[in-house]
Amino acid sequence: MKNDSIIVLLGPPGAGKGTQGEKLAEVLNLIPLSTGQVLREEARKGSALGKEAQEIMERGDLVPDALVAEIVRQRIETAGPSQAVLLDGFPRNLPQADLLEQLKGARPLCLVNIQVDEDVVLKRLTGRRYCVDCGRIYNFNLSTPKQGDVCDACGAQLVQREDDREAVFQTRFRVYREETVPLIEAYSQKSTFFAVNGNQPPQAVFEEISSQLEEMDREVNIPAVELEQ
Ligand SMILES: [Zn+2]
Repeated sequence: MKNDSIIVLLGPPGAGKGTQGEKLAEVLNLIPLSTGQVLREEARKGSALGKEAQEIMERGDLVPDALVAEIVRQRIETAGPSQAVLLDGFPRNLPQADLLEQLKGARPLCLVNIQVDEDVVLKRLTGRRYCVDCGRIYNFNLSTPKQGDVCDACGAQLVQREDDREAVFQTRFRVYREETVPLIEAYSQKSTFFAVNGNQPPQAVFEEISSQLEEMDREVNIPAVELEQ
């Protein structure tokens, strides 16, 4: 991973992109951007953008390409030239990948696919709660918050996301298969793509992603001349 990289987290709903994204950003000092989280914050604030996005997300559908691309553009612009940006939730389909190509300029892409089975994901999402105040994610089926249903960090109420209900989850998974799987197939042809096993506990997934990113760095740093001798 180069220090001006754009790292893209890919995977089905419930793959752990949010959890991994938070930790990777913290440990590797990346600028994180979860488009879903930005849109949910806008919805809480009651902005026009937030209201529009909320209706779409609660059905399990994808927010229009141009709208999410604008959020991503602003975040990439505010990042320093040697600050890596971590994207969670964008791109989700081939047209959005084209938009990212235009937005990213000369920054290299790192593509990380978190592979996880559908039954594992369903179990996780039904237990998932998020903090209404700071957005931190918890899972009642895996790691419970210390004090019942309030946030360990800020004490605010933990709630379930509308789009984590099982009926909506089916729509999200169908959208994932139709829109995102073709994108992942196209990305998997690139040399900067790698996949990790997302069925493992979060810490094991995190270690696999970090070591793969390190590995990628070493490969990038090998002088081409030496390889030819
Ligand atoms: Zn909180």
